[in-house]
Amino acid sequence: MARKRVFSGIRPTGQIHLGNYLGAIKSWIELQDRYECIYAIVDYHGMTTPYDPAEMRANVRELLIDYLAAGVDPERSILIVQSALPEHTELAWILGTVTPVSWLERVPTYKEKVEQHPDYVHLGLLSYGVLMAADIVLYKAEVVPVGEDQLPHLELAREIVRRFHHLFGVRIFPEPQALVQEDTARIMSLTEPEKKMSKSLGPRSLIALADPPEEIRDKIMKAVTDTGPAGEEMSPGVANLFHLLKLFGTEEEYAQLRAEYDAGTLRYVNLKRTLADALIRSLEPFRRRRAELENDPAYLERVLREGIRRARVIARQTMEEVKTACGLMLD
Ligand code: ATP
Ligand code: MG
Repeated sequence: MARKRVFSGIRPTGQIHLGNYLGAIKSWIELQDRYECIYAIVDYHGMTTPYDPAEMRANVRELLIDYLAAGVDPERSILIVQSALPEHTELAWILGTVTPVSWLERVPTYKEKVEQHPDYVHLGLLSYGVLMAADIVLYKAEVVPVGEDQLPHLELAREIVRRFHHLFGVRIFPEPQALVQEDTARIMSLTEPEKKMSKSLGPRSLIALADPPEEIRDKIMKAVTDTGPAGEEMSPGVANLFHLLKLFGTEEEYAQLRAEYDAGTLRYVNLKRTLADALIRSLEPFRRRRAELENDPAYLERVLREGIRRARVIARQTMEEVKTACGLMLD
């Protein structure tokens, strides 16, 4: 039997960070052996928030390098750039015709973006979730490894699939399920620890996987710790630092510092120093692989060309089924 499919993507909106890695890419890598995986650089999604066209290409290239350096293997997985496959937008249009506007208006990320950029509210932003549903179901993907912030989009994708099937009397798509890592579904920002770490909160708020050691140290040392009165629950900033230490430090380091916290003797500077060292250590192989890939543009181009070629076969097949169901012209 053919392997089940996985689809996921990241917007080329800046350097990827610990949240992207722990929430999504880490499971992408683990799934490669058991599933047919398609991992996308979703540049059309990158256009939904303000961006500089002059930087887009470089961002796409950097993100491809990030995927490969993190361990996405083009021999096993299909890597694509969304805009290279017109079927994504074609299917999004069709799914848009079965999606009530009221469903889109209640998506939490839409409401957040409207607040963030009140002068940049457009049809593409509203229909973000429709395009994302199209990205996934175009490949009939069943599993979508993502961070917690994407759960409402997956719920929407399932509703759209059900409605499409109901209205056209067919069963073409599986209902996609999110795969969320329980322990790392939501890594918090270093500067505003009540919000999730995001590329859009700016470079000071995140640790990019490609950050040089001195920058990692500097950002961790300046991370917001606590403000609340002693004896209260652990503050979100400190909790986030401990969370990261648990993931990247040794068991002894974590146990020692945690015991000091419980005893009320912890100096945050020690927690931060230990965490910075652990992160610098852990990210070193990633930085090395990244530097090698930077020097091999021919390989990067080959990876994408091959990925797009393989994805196109699946995408065209699905569009043929969809267009037939909708009574549209075939190629
Ligand atoms: P932007 O601010 O441009 O939206 P982002 O950091 O939110 O950038 P996305 O490209 O939107 O990144 O998301 C890529 C993937 O990373 C998604 O699966 C998302 O759920 C996951 N992700 C993003 N931020 C975090 C986080 N802080 N913790 C866990 N997962 C995250
Ligand atoms: Mg995001």
